Amino acid sequence: MSKSSPSSNRRQFIKGLGLSGVAATLGAGSAAADRLRPRQPKATKAKNLIFLVVDGMCTGTYAFAHHWSLRNRKAPLNWMQVYEQPGLTRALQDTASASSPVTDSAAAASAWGSGQRVMNGALNTDANGKSLTPLFTCAKAAGKATGLVTTCRVTHATPAGFAANVEKRGMENEIAQQYHEREIDVLLGGGSRHFEGEKALTQVADFQKKGYQFVQIKSELEAQAGNSKLLGLFSKSHVPYAIDRKNDAALAEVPSLPDMFRAALKSLGQSKVGFVLQVEGGRVDHAGHGNDPATILHELLEFDECIPIALEYLKHDPDTLLIITTDHGTGGCQLNGAGSAYSDSGPALDRINDMTASFEALEHQFKTTGRFDPAVFTAATGIVPTKAQANAIQATMDDPNTSYLSSAMTGIVSDELFKKTAVGWTSSNHTSECVDLFAFGPGSERIQPFIRNFELFGVMTQALGVSQGESCSASVS
Ligand SMILES: [Zn+2]
Repeated sequence: MSKSSPSSNRRQFIKGLGLSGVAATLGAGSAAADRLRPRQPKATKAKNLIFLVVDGMCTGTYAFAHHWSLRNRKAPLNWMQVYEQPGLTRALQDTASASSPVTDSAAAASAWGSGQRVMNGALNTDANGKSLTPLFTCAKAAGKATGLVTTCRVTHATPAGFAANVEKRGMENEIAQQYHEREIDVLLGGGSRHFEGEKALTQVADFQKKGYQFVQIKSELEAQAGNSKLLGLFSKSHVPYAIDRKNDAALAEVPSLPDMFRAALKSLGQSKVGFVLQVEGGRVDHAGHGNDPATILHELLEFDECIPIALEYLKHDPDTLLIITTDHGTGGCQLNGAGSAYSDSGPALDRINDMTASFEALEHQFKTTGRFDPAVFTAATGIVPTKAQANAIQATMDDPNTSYLSSAMTGIVSDELFKKTAVGWTSSNHTSECVDLFAFGPGSERIQPFIRNFELFGVMTQALGVSQGESCSASVS
């Protein structure tokens, strides 16, 4: 897509043949050397940056979703089709943090957001407590509009990594306050609890005073005419899972990630100087932590719908750098060989289709009555719990120390879930795997085939032509 891509490709091609070495031995200035010496890619600038991030996606997650898609929709995932797009730069990304080979989302987003690895749990703050300048501060200083879109609370670690500085990711009231002070132009996601009530440090009304349009439901979001400042909060905490939005009529007015992405483009696309937008499929990670196969599938399918929206936008505005990646794996999700000669692995994918609710939705439902209901459980999962399993779930509910009943339930029926879906997990934690990174557009030619997460910051700031220097740092409060 970028004008310099052909020469960059040519350079890599020549490098691959070992001809650049030949050119060097011929000596500078000779006509032969000039012919052989690769031309430097033309320095290109991106007006806009769209950063699509699926949080916590293992290679096995998209591979299993891809095979589900081939069987059930007779089409590959958009993710797989990216490999065939012209102009693609592809890299493998090392995702570690400063404190561990296994990153958390805060450290991962900070590495991208400020160009430095930090300790797990910190957001753009180094081990000495020093605030690092986030990407959005640089973009703002250059006059660009900024936006964050997520299915998580908008104050959650991954979006905050592009815009905020706090010592601990849990300081979400402070993050909301910084969004207000720093005037992040578009904020769409969950997390209204950090924008209302006595504990919140900033209120929705404070945003409205600064000219933000505020929306709370899908129809309001779709009706908004592209106000340049937009605050959309669609849930007190995280946005309900895609599988629940598809199956529960009560959630019909909760927008999907693609709905929010389109609305953000409508607002930010009006900026004459350009924009920087992060769009996060945030809850693939949560379904991975919960070892919930049907939920992770639907979350990933929804994120996947954002890819053609982004590629279409690049056609309309080619001065846009598009990056698509994930921050780390979660859960070690894999479709496994099942049955004789693995003949049951395909049918297992089809059996996921009779799962109609997330374990999180079941948790909410059981908690409202205080009773585990085996009939409701079976209707939603296709699994008939044994008496012992039903008792174990009830005992977990009754235990005041239980923090995630949903994860406890998938643990209690893990054998049945595995038999049904053939999807297995290595843990309920993040993993250290290297992950795919895709890029298109101006600046993407600077991405090396193997990239460490923090190196992406320089790629983005150089492509955008935004300063990493004094003027930008000075504006961090
Ligand atoms: Zn996670």
